[in-house]
Formats: sequence, C-alpha cells, structure tokens
Amino acid sequence: MKAHDGMYIDGEWRPAAGADTIAVVNPADEQVIALVPAGTIEDVDAAVRAARTAFPAWAATPPAERAALIGALRDVLVARKDEIAATVTAELGSPLKFSQAVHVGAPIAVAGSYADLAASYAFEEKVGNSTVYLEPVGVVGAITPWNYPLHQIVAKVAPALAAGCTVVLKPAEDTPLTAQLFAEAVHEAGVPAGVFNLVTGLGPVAGQALVEHEGVDLVSFTGSTAVGRQIGATAGAAVKRVALELGGKSANVILPSADLAKAVNVGVANVMSNSGQTCSAWTRMLVHDAQYDEAVALAAEAAAKYGERIGPVVNAKQRERVLGYIEKGVAEGARLVAGGPESPRERGYYVSPTVFADVTPEMAVAQEEIFGPVLSVIRYEDEADALRIANGTVYGLAGAVWAGDEAEAVAFARRLDTGQVDINGGRFNPRAPFGGYKQSGVGRELGAHGLSEYLQTKSLQF
Ligand code: NAD
Repeated sequence: MKAHDGMYIDGEWRPAAGADTIAVVNPADEQVIALVPAGTIEDVDAAVRAARTAFPAWAATPPAERAALIGALRDVLVARKDEIAATVTAELGSPLKFSQAVHVGAPIAVAGSYADLAASYAFEEKVGNSTVYLEPVGVVGAITPWNYPLHQIVAKVAPALAAGCTVVLKPAEDTPLTAQLFAEAVHEAGVPAGVFNLVTGLGPVAGQALVEHEGVDLVSFTGSTAVGRQIGATAGAAVKRVALELGGKSANVILPSADLAKAVNVGVANVMSNSGQTCSAWTRMLVHDAQYDEAVALAAEAAAKYGERIGPVVNAKQRERVLGYIEKGVAEGARLVAGGPESPRERGYYVSPTVFADVTPEMAVAQEEIFGPVLSVIRYEDEADALRIANGTVYGLAGAVWAGDEAEAVAFARRLDTGQVDINGGRFNPRAPFGGYKQSGVGRELGAHGLSEYLQTKSLQF
C-alpha cells in the first residue's frame, strides 16, 4: 500500500518532526502493509498554526465558494472510490463489497449533502430588532476512530469546512492510510493551503497535544466513552467547545405485533455488518416471552449464515477484548446459540458471529459495549418491561422498534432515551442528526444539526 512518510500541513506533505512510525497491519492476514509517521507535539503545533493562519480568509470566503470546493472534494472521492475502498479493506479488513457500498458510499453522500447545505444554509437571521450572524467557531481539532475510517473524517471535516472553520485531523492509529488518501483528495479538490491539515499519530501523544493546544477552538471527537470523558474534561478546563460521539449499546425492540422473521433477520445483519464494529449497532435484541424461543432459533440461523462472509475485527487487541466478553457471557450464565470463543480461522483477527440467548439485563454482555459480532437476545414480559430494559444502560445512541402498526412503533420510540431510532427497518439518512443521549455523547453530526456544531452566534441589535 502506498503511504506518505510525512504530514499534510499547509497544503503540502512535510517531513514529520520525529522519527517514530506506526505500523499499519492488514487484519485479514496480520501482515504489515505500511508505515506512517507517529506525530509529535511539534507536528501538531505546526498544523494548528497553519490552520490558524488560514482561518480568517477561509471564514470570509463566500459560502457558495466553500460549497463549490466541498462539491469538488466529493467529486474526487467519487473518482477515486475504488482505490479508497481497497485501502479501507486493507487496513480495516472489511469485505470489499461492504467497503465500496458503505465505507465509500456513505461519505460521498455526506460530502454531497454539505456541498448543498453550504450553499443553502442561512448564515444570517432576523430576530425582532436584531440580526443574528452564524459565524465559524475557528480552528477545529478533529479526532476520529477506525471503525468507519472515511465516514468519521467526512462527518467532521465537511461540516467544519462548510461553516468556514479550518481543521487539524488526527485519525485513528489503525486506519491512517484512508486519512492520507482523504488529504490527497482535499488537495486535488483545490481547497486552499492550511484549511485542512493531517497529523497521523498516537492518541495519547498527537491526539492529546491537539486537544490541549490553545490554538484549537473546538474539539470534535468520535471514539470510546473513556477517552471522550478525558477529552471533555480537558476541553472544559480550557473553556473550549467540544463535541463527543461515544459508545453505544442499542436496543432492537421487537413488539409482539411485528413481522418477527424480518425484525430478527435485519437485526442480526445490523449487528454482524462491519464485524460488529458499529457504535450504533443494535446489540441487544428484546423479544416478548411468547416469541422468545422462535426468535432465538431465527437469530442463530441468521448468524450462522455470516460465518463465511464476515470480515475480521480491526486488530489483535480488539479480538482479545471481544473474545473476553464472549467468555464472560458464558461465565455469567448466558446460553451460546451461535458462534463462541473459538477463532474460526488460523490467520487474521476473525471472531465467529455469536448469539447469546437467556441474557438478563444486568449481565456484562447486556450492559457493556463489546464492539464485535456479538448479539444478546433478551426476554421481556410486557411493554413496560421492554422499555425499562431498553433504557437500562448508561448509553443512548441508537435503536430500532418493530411493530405491525407504524404508530405503535413510533409511540414506543418516543419513550426511548436515545438519539435515533429506526422504525420497522427505516434506512440510514445522511442528513438526519446523529448523536447520543446520556453517556453516548454531546452534540450531533450530519445534516444541518451537524453544521450548527461548527457555528457560533453574534447578534447585532438595531
Ligand atoms: P478510542 O477512543 O480508543 O480512539 C478514538 C480516537 O481517539 C483515536 O484517533 C485515538 O488515537 C484517539 N485517542 C486515544 N486516546 C486519546 C487521548 N488521550 N487524547 C486524544 N485522543 C486520543 O476509540 P476506538 O477504539 O478507536 O473506537 C471505538 C470506539 O468509538 C467505540 O467505543 C465506539 O462506540 C466509538 N464510536 C462512536 C461513534 C459515534 O458516532 N458515537 C462512532 C464510531 C465509534
């Protein structure tokens, strides 16, 4: 795989300040495919300075021009989609078809949505005797995870650029090659120097330096709740704006009137896709007592079909973590009906698609984010019980409700403490706000709500 040995700063690839590197490993065969530089505090400082210098002119660029450049960026992503998909597959391990459809398809849609929004958004409004201006917050420090490497980057960079902010990106250690391709695309699109900058590196070094840098006005972080809590505290102490997209343990609630087979099959597919490494995955399936045995049998059958198709998880540590949860589930008395802790292949960080039955709401496999292909099927007695179980975790990112009647599903969804709910298999909408209730985060991404995160208001009274 092609890799840059420098950082993308101020419109060019510059040598890294230090000599340390990060090895990028293909999780399907455990081979090192590239080395990228491990950024230091000096690299971060240079990138933030470039972003600060570029900010006034970019903020003053008419929204229509910013929109045109985001549109050009989208077009480069489209033109290079096969190369990007192959790179995501090489460093994340996801099957190529999934990389093409989702890992590249979703960010292209999101970039397109911000090209449109930048052109049409009202950056000025009248409130009585006042004019309110929505102005860019400034320099954004963006920190992204590996699970949807390009989507997570575009979901931050596109709205930030649309708002008139400049950006320094620190991508995840496991997937820096996709981030380098994105920087190439930004360059090719003609985005002015310094508006977007990339520093690859370790979270506790380059990531932390970015969060702490006084030239950064807003930190936008997607990742684990543990790191998010730390970042929120640092940003809070500096009175710096912060957006956090964190973990989840979402519920797929199947009400008795639902099409059971469809709800179970879509639910299993939702958990197994991307090898379970989706923050919004419906990893708890809630089924009424009377339908429980039938649902478990359907789920086991559906999961078994993923055995050959599923990709590996991202790295050895992640596999150990997921297998540890599977062992914990068994130890706590949950019943394995598909998969288990045995590795399905000799090489590669594969985990068998796993389904647990007889899971009770307080078990670790029902409470904690596993981030692997593991589904817990939980029994409920009545609707009140289902609601209590669904809302009974510290998270509140996503969820699903299935019922024979849409109004019945909506009534239940309105009582869920969660940021987004799919009704009877509703499709992903790249313009709908995405983000969490409770410990799943602070702020929203995507669409107009995502754009407003990068704006601050100034009101003039007349
Ligand atoms: P992580 O928190 O370990 O890392 C995320 C990013 O933060 C990486 O770029 C990492 O280098 C950086 N980082 C780590 N320590 C840091 C520090 N001290 N200071 C600054 N930056 C630091 O998470 P991960 O393992 O890469 O991703 C998985 C997690 O992300 C899961 O918990 C998942 O739910 C969550 N996630 C949430 C969403 C969402 O939208 N809510 C989306 C995807 C993933």
